Amino acid sequence: MTPIDPRAAALADLREWTEHQATARQRLIAAAWRAGVHNVAELARAAGVRRDTVYADLRRENIDPTERSTMPTTTLPSRRAQVRDRLIPILAELPLRGPREESPDPAAVLRQAGRVTILKLLYGLEEVAEVYTSWLDTSLAEQDATATGLATWSEAGMPTAPLPRWTRDRHGFLCVGCGENFWTLVSRGDVSSRWCKTCARDLAELRSEQVWIPRRSPLHHDIAFPGVLPDERYDNLLPVNWNGSIDITEYVMGEADAFLAGYGWMGLATSDEPSPLTGDLEAPTLKAAGQTTKPGHRFAWTASFAYDRGPNGWRKTPYGFRLVTGTLTSDHGVSTFDDAFTMLDTIAAGNNAQ
Ligand SMILES: [Zn+2]
Repeated sequence: MTPIDPRAAALADLREWTEHQATARQRLIAAAWRAGVHNVAELARAAGVRRDTVYADLRRENIDPTERSTMPTTTLPSRRAQVRDRLIPILAELPLRGPREESPDPAAVLRQAGRVTILKLLYGLEEVAEVYTSWLDTSLAEQDATATGLATWSEAGMPTAPLPRWTRDRHGFLCVGCGENFWTLVSRGDVSSRWCKTCARDLAELRSEQVWIPRRSPLHHDIAFPGVLPDERYDNLLPVNWNGSIDITEYVMGEADAFLAGYGWMGLATSDEPSPLTGDLEAPTLKAAGQTTKPGHRFAWTASFAYDRGPNGWRKTPYGFRLVTGTLTSDHGVSTFDDAFTMLDTIAAGNNAQ
């Protein structure tokens, strides 16, 4: 068991912030430009910088500010945006759950958990945890406004820790005191102080009325994830030899990962080796086909993906392969999709729902 080294974790956080911070303005200016804001004066005002700084930022992001005639570039949604657009409505499907409250409908919780699994398959544990924790920050702040403290410490459950224990906690799922147990208690009026019972009572010597137990998503522990360090590999890659070349070009799998990586979800498999990539080396097309074998969820599928080099997040990794079109075939007929989440959610819903 490796304990968290608080010094290394703090330095990693600082490095991440620095990398992020150094290019934040230029990336945001470029994003606004790509969204269609081509008025440099307006960009300069919004960013609080001079116009020549805006020009310099745009050029650093490979945008030529003199090419104003181009259509407003519709940028495809980033992974973060995809997860945000999906996860928040999924969380709203069921009421948040307080301590010792049973879930009203176990089948609905399973369905909700299934949707979160699809998000993880398509966009990764890191993105899902990131979006969830920022949503949680808002939720806790709202709950804090009307929260009442504990009457006695016996209301707080015994601490539990992740198994195996985490060597990091980049998204804040663990107690701020020990960094070992999951937090279950929140300080009143200070929702970033999240404690296990032991630390709140014995380490911080809080009184029971100074802490409260939040209502949380039933999926809180499904989403809990220790996180990825800034210099760690984050995406699955597809190595390709183009035309027998010995040089290997690596592509970020993106959404194709959920279809091709063999996670065993719903018995999803490819029927053959995926066909070779076609088209441009910079932006190839990937086609694949296969079947799902889980009883009640049996489909034949085809999927066609286009490569999106669009940089994602502060790591600026390519988005990867993005579904262009897919089909599901069952006894009920053929359905066509242009969205990977909807396609996988249809498989999860099963044959009778089709
Ligand atoms: Zn603790």
